[in-house]
Amino acid sequence: MAKVLIIGAGGVGGVVTHKCAQLPDVFEEIVLASRTEAKCRHIASQLDRSIETAQVDADNVPELVALINRVKPDLVINVALPYQDLTIMDACLEAGVNYMDTANYEPLDTAKFEYSWQWAYQDKFKQAGLMALLGSGFDPGATNVFTAYIAKHYFDEIHTLDIIDVNGGDHGYPFATNFNPEINIREVTAECRHWENGEFVTTPAMSTKQSFTCPDGVGTYNIYRMYHEELESLVKNFPSLKRAQFWMSFGESYLKHLEVLGNVGMTGIEPVDFNGQQIVPIQFLKRLLPDPASLGPRTKGRTCIGCVVTGVRDGKPKTVYLYNICDHQECYAEVQSQAISYPTGVPAMIGAKMMLEGKWLQPGVWNMEQMDPDPFMDDMNIYGLPWTVIEDYPF
Ligand code: NDP
Repeated sequence: MAKVLIIGAGGVGGVVTHKCAQLPDVFEEIVLASRTEAKCRHIASQLDRSIETAQVDADNVPELVALINRVKPDLVINVALPYQDLTIMDACLEAGVNYMDTANYEPLDTAKFEYSWQWAYQDKFKQAGLMALLGSGFDPGATNVFTAYIAKHYFDEIHTLDIIDVNGGDHGYPFATNFNPEINIREVTAECRHWENGEFVTTPAMSTKQSFTCPDGVGTYNIYRMYHEELESLVKNFPSLKRAQFWMSFGESYLKHLEVLGNVGMTGIEPVDFNGQQIVPIQFLKRLLPDPASLGPRTKGRTCIGCVVTGVRDGKPKTVYLYNICDHQECYAEVQSQAISYPTGVPAMIGAKMMLEGKWLQPGVWNMEQMDPDPFMDDMNIYGLPWTVIEDYPF
């Protein structure tokens, strides 16, 4: 039985808190802290057990250390924004507590995300005897574990990996982002990078697309190749991969709006002077767009996220597709959040559980695929994200 400090009370923070609260035998005490404590209290009011809430500025290391020292958690679950990863890791080191997050560090002033900053903490966490588990959401997160599971159980050697993230949900707005608009737009407008024959190859954003038919009647969608952070760790940890790509579905309306917003400069991250005030266009855009948390009750349809892996077993080539399908309305009924925050928050809870139960606990900074996938995959089936394997699925 353990005590966790969850930092961040947005869409994902809400789901993690709900899911941890459902398991009092593992998460005996929960403290939810964020910049706006009212949001923590709102989430707390939805639960059928009591949790503590607190206010914290996660950009401020001394403030974080004071909170951690007061709360004395066994683990800090960081579901604030990627900008806070390093300050929270620093605070965990100073206070002597294990760390976990769902997205890799991204500097506020450069639209660039990579693991180098967090991997640089390897020795510090090892020497302190502490663990940092990186990227325990769905993608990254479940997709890393899916890849490890497929490699472990279906192949002698894996050669290609295609991660396919389809959102077949509809919220009825012409343009809205399913999670934090700033993070989402920075990710989608970034140049595409995929792994091919030992190096990352760069192509323009959204320049490669294909059609993909999801199983179980989820539908046929246009999927676009883009860069996604798990590719960086997966090609490092599975050096036999000759090609690794990430694909995401986008509707015509979303892409049309994004193109226009980009063309007029509304997705920029450099401050502009407006009537004597410095305004960052993408932050102003975020202010105008629907709050992702408000999409929950409106979103209908299903998501389908999985990995297609090819390789060899006993000298013979084969293909394996492992995926999860999630229904937006079912997620909302359970935790008052749609199937974007839900499939992120459940693996975050399971990653935390793996650490607290000692199944994954080891000093150092780790990506998900470096851990034994089996207990995590068992828990995915139990706690709301059941998965299926199909061999020779057409892609
Ligand atoms: P939201 O924007 O909905 O929530 C972010 C929360 O963090 C808000 O409560 C916000 O506070 C809080 N926060 C921001 N800055 C600070 C700060 N300086 N100090 C304290 N709290 C702060 O984001 P999401 O819930 O959608 O995403 C949370 C994380 O999950 C992000 O890192 C995102 O990249 C990641 N993610 C990962 C996915 C995966 O599959 N791996 C998928 C989706 C998201 P306030 O309310 O005051 O703004």
